[in-house]
Amino acid sequence: MEKGFVYLVGAGPGRVDLITVRGTEVLKKADCIIYDKLANPAFLRFTRADAEIIHVPKRIGGASVTQQEINQLLVEKATGGKIVARLKGGDPCMFGRVAEELAVLREAGIGFEVVPGITAGIAVSAYTGIMLTDRDYSSQVVFVTGREAEGKRQSNIDWPLLATFPGTIVFYMGMGNLDSIAKKLIKNGMSKDTPATVVTEVTFPTQRIVKATLAEISETCEQNKVGPPAIIVIGTAADSDTRLDWFMKQPLFGKNIVVTRDAAGNAEFAEKIIARGGNPVQFETFRIKPLTGFNEFLRVLAKFTGYDWIIFTSGNGVTIFFEALKSLGKDARVFGSAKIAAIGSQTAEKLSRFGIRADFVPSVFTSEEFGKQLLNFVYLLDKKVLLLRSQIASNMLVELLEKGGAVVNDVAVYTAVSQKGESDRLVEKISKGEVDWLTFASPSSVNGFFEQIDIDVVRFAKAKIASIGPVTSERLLNLGVNVDVTADEHTLDGLLSAIEKIYKL
Ligand code: SAH
Repeated sequence: MEKGFVYLVGAGPGRVDLITVRGTEVLKKADCIIYDKLANPAFLRFTRADAEIIHVPKRIGGASVTQQEINQLLVEKATGGKIVARLKGGDPCMFGRVAEELAVLREAGIGFEVVPGITAGIAVSAYTGIMLTDRDYSSQVVFVTGREAEGKRQSNIDWPLLATFPGTIVFYMGMGNLDSIAKKLIKNGMSKDTPATVVTEVTFPTQRIVKATLAEISETCEQNKVGPPAIIVIGTAADSDTRLDWFMKQPLFGKNIVVTRDAAGNAEFAEKIIARGGNPVQFETFRIKPLTGFNEFLRVLAKFTGYDWIIFTSGNGVTIFFEALKSLGKDARVFGSAKIAAIGSQTAEKLSRFGIRADFVPSVFTSEEFGKQLLNFVYLLDKKVLLLRSQIASNMLVELLEKGGAVVNDVAVYTAVSQKGESDRLVEKISKGEVDWLTFASPSSVNGFFEQIDIDVVRFAKAKIASIGPVTSERLLNLGVNVDVTADEHTLDGLLSAIEKIYKL
């Protein structure tokens, strides 16, 4: 049987887009992904839908997985001819037991490649402003394992050398032994007042920094309930300029922001929140169901000629329409010489991804307003207009265009059906005050959300409410929900900017 191949891939320190380009390429082609407890499960978005995903070392089939079992698993999968990606947190070669895994593969005659990643101890500099090297005070850095310190066997760590090391010391896996690490360094001659900093969950929206002197760092961490995973930095560097910390200074840093769209919409929104330092909590409220397989739509596509205007009212409508076109072996040429209109910049942006520049894009948020503007923009008497939109849209736009003399064909491309999210968990979070914002990007989201969650849960909570525009806000107000922020620009970015503004006041 043909042998497979194993890639050992560094996932980077945590934040999903800090993996390397090579790393994502490997994930895209792997048949089987075996991932570590430190690798963010969000990486699965790079994998193929049919890839086999195995989570180690936490559990396989209920039991804990040993290193030996992981080694066996790698050989077994690759021997079956598969392309295996072994995803490990940070850099695979940094305290990652890579040598053992590679030796086993070599022995079994299985080919491998190692893809480096950004190790947590290095990412700490960029994400905190703590510079591990500095031409004035740190010309050398040492990376040390903190787990060995507790072992009874002979230590490989040279404590007297570390205690007098003229540079920066970075400990991995040291939280369980922080007290003994500090005591050993002091006992071997390091000053009690040496600056020490612990950084947990580096690059995540939950990142925390605790600073103290070497003598006090362990107790300070305990008081602040700071635990692993963490990087411990000891030396002058640990006291570096906090003004260089751009990451935790972002207005949305650490804010828990609930997104309430469909699964794909939530994923897109979550990325935008992470890019601004926030912590997205995804809660599905509806599911988009394409109607492009139905006769009405197929009939329209079969006779797609003679339209003067074609109107898209949402990004979903655009994506689903073009997917249907593609599956029927057609492309944008079906539009012929028709003019294209789009409601909102996001819809226009989606169209541009398919090579279409919309002729008319008013920045409006209601179909009614759009209709009025279109009538002002062109003469629609006896013009043939095709509306490609959601089944649950109101009839207002059709009536308005018909009043202007247009012959309108209103075709449903998709509909939204209610979807159940993990409401018990969310209710608990909201009630405990662990949610800072609930965001709503459409009236469908509002409906889907409050079908699952009692209004009183939200009314009496600390969580604030942000809405993408007046139509969504109105729906919230009608339900008796107080709206704290309505975006001026009715896009997801506009919504986040509106929330940011509150913190900048
Ligand atoms: N190969 C990994 C390290 C594995 S050892 C790397 O290159 O980063 C596990 C230790 O790494 C943890 O105990 C912790 O000290 C550190 N670590 C990994 N990811 C971290 C993160 N996001 N934040 C803080 N420490 C992290």
